[in-house]
Amino acid sequence: PGTANSQTPNECVQVVVRCRPMSNRERTEGSPEVVNVYPNRGVVELQNLVDANKEQRKVFTYDAAYDASASQTTLYHEVVFPLVSSVLEGFNGCIFAYGQTGTGKTFTMEGVRGNDDLMGIIPRTFEQIWLHINRTENFQFLVDVSYLEIYMEELRDLLKPNSKHLEVRERGSGVYVPNLHAINCKSVDDMANVMRLGNKNRTVGFTNMNEHSSRSHAIFMIKIEMCDTETNTIKVGKLNLIDLAGSERQSKTGASAERLKEASKINLALSSLGNVISALAENSPHVPYRDSKLTRLLQDSLGGNSKTIMIANIGPSNYNYNETLTTLRYAQRAK
Ligand code: ADP
Ligand code: MG
Repeated sequence: PGTANSQTPNECVQVVVRCRPMSNRERTEGSPEVVNVYPNRGVVELQNLVDANKEQRKVFTYDAAYDASASQTTLYHEVVFPLVSSVLEGFNGCIFAYGQTGTGKTFTMEGVRGNDDLMGIIPRTFEQIWLHINRTENFQFLVDVSYLEIYMEELRDLLKPNSKHLEVRERGSGVYVPNLHAINCKSVDDMANVMRLGNKNRTVGFTNMNEHSSRSHAIFMIKIEMCDTETNTIKVGKLNLIDLAGSERQSKTGASAERLKEASKINLALSSLGNVISALAENSPHVPYRDSKLTRLLQDSLGGNSKTIMIANIGPSNYNYNETLTTLRYAQRAK
């Protein structure tokens, strides 16, 4: 084993691709499937049906790849469970859902409400955390939850939607947001209630919830303080669960000035996140955290002893070929 350098990949960054099933619409419209996933090799293959002159198949390899048959439970146990276990040992962690609108980011992070089998990553972490707390003796735990979104490079508190302007500040090696509301939770139900409250507030003031949520990043933050009552030592683990804004390119034709501004801020944040993750994955000495609000906010949970998982979501049909290729390339670069 050598020292960390740009040739040694960083095992703290994991990139996973998940392909959703064909939608009813894609089936009825007869758009062909162009994605093949080889789950045991972490390989995703994209076929080009459009241009006969181009190479027919593009092949990408990731830390893991999941096809339409992969259950929420499988994804959680194989990918997320180990990261949450390290948060419960005092490490920081981030899980991002990246992808074009409609590819399953919210399905992956939140899941389908009221259906236990289709429960997503966020509510499953609540169960893992409280199972651990209830089983661990000689420790006192303090669990605080914040929930915010970033829209047009502005932070918005989803637990106090009317609170004023929020700023990211730095203190030593840490980052904090003065006045960001944090709710102390004592059970799985408490955490589920905070998630529901934030989701409800996310829609306040927006006539089109889907449009708004596809243009903002939602960040669910869990801070766990663990006090060993025998040695009186304290450890803190932070877990950040992020449903990113849709990665689709906005068409420039017919877009209003406001929409173009929105689009350029989304592109800025997503490309800056990609730059940070690829710098971390390559163990680069310079990590450009300062380029966007998102990477500044998550600075102390990205890099160092932290663990990061990027879940790149894609759709299977030819109809989305270009966006799928863009996502597969973005995810490849992150590695
Ligand atoms: P996004 O948040 O990326 O815009 P959604 O999570 O809203 O996308 O997913 C779009 C639609 O596809 C939803 O109806 C969702 O239930 C469905 N879907 C996404 N991923 C899956 C999957 N892996 N299995 C079954 N349905 C899925
Ligand atoms: Mg969504």
